[in-house]
Amino acid sequence: MRRKILHVASECFPLVKTGGLADVLGALPEAQARAGDSVRVLLPAYRGLPERLQAAKPVAELEVRGQPFRLLEGRLPGAEAVVWLLDCPPLYARDGDPYHDGQGQAHWDNGWRFGCFAEAAARLALQGVEGWKPDLLHAHDWQAALAPAWLAEQAIRPATLLTIHNLAYQGCVGHGDFEALGLPAHWWHVDIGEFWGSFSFLKAGIASADALTTVSPQYAREIQTPEFGQALDDRLRRRSEALHGILNGIDDELWDPARDRLLTTRYDRRSVAAGKAANKAALQTEMGLEADPSVLLVGIVSRFAGQKGIDAVIDAAEAWAGLPVQLAVLGAGESGIEQGMRALETSLPGRVGLRLGYDERLAHWIEAGSDAFLMPSRFEPCGLNQMYSQRYGTVPLVRAVGGLVDTVVDATPATLAEGRATGIHFGHSDAGGVRHALERALALYGTPDWARLQQAGMARDFSWGQAAQAYAALYRQLIGR
Ligand code: ADP
Repeated sequence: MRRKILHVASECFPLVKTGGLADVLGALPEAQARAGDSVRVLLPAYRGLPERLQAAKPVAELEVRGQPFRLLEGRLPGAEAVVWLLDCPPLYARDGDPYHDGQGQAHWDNGWRFGCFAEAAARLALQGVEGWKPDLLHAHDWQAALAPAWLAEQAIRPATLLTIHNLAYQGCVGHGDFEALGLPAHWWHVDIGEFWGSFSFLKAGIASADALTTVSPQYAREIQTPEFGQALDDRLRRRSEALHGILNGIDDELWDPARDRLLTTRYDRRSVAAGKAANKAALQTEMGLEADPSVLLVGIVSRFAGQKGIDAVIDAAEAWAGLPVQLAVLGAGESGIEQGMRALETSLPGRVGLRLGYDERLAHWIEAGSDAFLMPSRFEPCGLNQMYSQRYGTVPLVRAVGGLVDTVVDATPATLAEGRATGIHFGHSDAGGVRHALERALALYGTPDWARLQQAGMARDFSWGQAAQAYAALYRQLIGR
């Protein structure tokens, strides 16, 4: 049977991306379409998106809460999966990113924007478009989480799945917005969406979807504990049976050091030593770092948000000053973290290089040119960069949480002897944790064990195949019900 799948999300690479969510939507639907499913991805029509689709044409009109919407259908060049854009210029065609205006302020009406988006998704799924009706609606994160909730109100409907890419973002609105969105009154209840006096889109989705997934097995376990549960751990424990952890894959064509068009020197497992040396020299020049082949060059590419533990990197100034290491950082986000990083760069010229902003090319250069890649995350649903790092022979230094645990094998005497070790785990998102990770890396750097870490990492398969199979098995179960 050719399954019909509707993905509903607020980001999709390469059309619009602020984080890993977009990478998943860029890869999974395409893998499913190539495997024979009929797949649509519904996104808001942000400014400039319709022009980037091939042959985008209007295929439906609908009205949600008195607001008119058009549905545009098109494809990305070379893609199998169909893209649906929900077009309503006053709501979506704005400056800035999907959630913030050009000044970095969250749009004041995000609840309304994504509330309408999710309701429209549910309506389109029920009515179908030009005879195409999904067997399953796969909602991603809070922006889409009300779609399964709306569908749960119907007797005859597609199956629903909600994937939690990051539990920290929940989409909460007050009672006024709840009423303006015309949400059913019984949803304002602790067992559905009521959450400490407000209404949480994500909580309502957690209560209503037929099944839930998150993006790594370890994070699926962690979010059922008070430490990582963001005050929803009891809700998630209640749905424990329906909650699955499926590890994200990566785009292994885009992130392949042997084929990476953004690099000036490409390399593979056999040429890794020379290839990385050339990329390291290029990166040191690019980032204003001292040209020194022997120093341990540590890379970071990250959103600057509390989750990512970048403050711990800043607090570890003494380690960066005292150890034979360099640091190359690409990131943007909270202004306090940006300022702290800038101060670290100023205090250690030639040792710390910083680029503020979003830069695909430099992200690839950092993966290729660094010796090690640092991720001191406080929590990490899956994380992608540690997987890219392993493919690039760049040893990941990761705090042992979430997907980082599932994807990086810590270097112990046993795992090193077995040739399984691919990186280094550390225990705390603070200056001590960062120093500990650097010292462990330095103890291995330049020894034969370092090359073994690189080889084991480069040999790993992080492609979407496994994840796509796991989702397919879950879809079969849900559609069969
Ligand atoms: P999250 O989704 O929490 O931000 P992930 O590790 O899952 O973290 O995904 C982040 C993705 O965004 C990766 O592909 C990473 O390379 C990319 N990224 C993050 N910040 C930047 C940046 N400043 N420039 C380029 N790419 C970035």
